[in-house]
Amino acid sequence: MQLGDQQPSGNVEDRLGIGVGGGLGIGGVVIAPVAYFLGFDPSTVINVAEQVSTQRSDTREVPKGAPTDETGQFVSKVLGSTETVWDKVFAQSNTRYRPPTLVLYDGQVRSACGMGQAAMGPFYCPNDEKLYLDLAFLRELQTRFRAPGDFAAAYVIAHEVGHHVQKLTGGFDRADARGRESNQNSIRMELQADCYAGVWGHYAGTMNQVDSGDIAEGLNAAAAVGDDNIQRQTQGRVSPESFTHGSSAQRQRWFKRGLDSGKPSDCDTFGANAL
Ligand SMILES: [Zn+2]
Repeated sequence: MQLGDQQPSGNVEDRLGIGVGGGLGIGGVVIAPVAYFLGFDPSTVINVAEQVSTQRSDTREVPKGAPTDETGQFVSKVLGSTETVWDKVFAQSNTRYRPPTLVLYDGQVRSACGMGQAAMGPFYCPNDEKLYLDLAFLRELQTRFRAPGDFAAAYVIAHEVGHHVQKLTGGFDRADARGRESNQNSIRMELQADCYAGVWGHYAGTMNQVDSGDIAEGLNAAAAVGDDNIQRQTQGRVSPESFTHGSSAQRQRWFKRGLDSGKPSDCDTFGANAL
């Protein structure tokens, strides 16, 4: 990616080093690389939140700003890029985009959706309109996703921002009306967030932020986080009835749809007969 000219977002809440928890245990290290990409699964978040809600957390207020270290700068610039894009897209329909806050945390964090922990991977909480990125994910940004792998990481952030766009445009309400916990609705929510990530990628391209290899990298990432791929790797077999985010092919398809057209109206996974 080419983010040199991108203004970093000031909507980053840096809680690194002030939260509870002494980093990841062994289990977290093993689970996390897969979980990074899973994104927000409302039922999982609530379940995990209930399991760990008795643990204490530091609730001190943290001022928002843009971190100055390399990884923090990257995250702030990607978030800034999504703000530029969604400002523009919302303005096209005469509405105003209200940007989310991005929280960087280490180990565990208290959100308005309950306690979050690193093994869950990045997630979005609609109740406080914040997206949460854990330190382990950020370390991956520095190592595995270091340029030219940065677009894959940006896709993950843009996907979580996609969930925020759903909050603003009624996607959560539509999913709730149909029973958000059902796997089918969860898949439609996730694929729509992928499509919105694609819409961001489309405009990032017009701002010359996307390198030639980035698109392939994003599609690769979308395939890697497909439920079939993850199940094959973690349990050795694929059970479509338990999918919550969509197959590799579906995630690629919806990401690409947003990427190609740049139109959120093409991301109507709830109205689509075939996903
Ligand atoms: Zn998601």
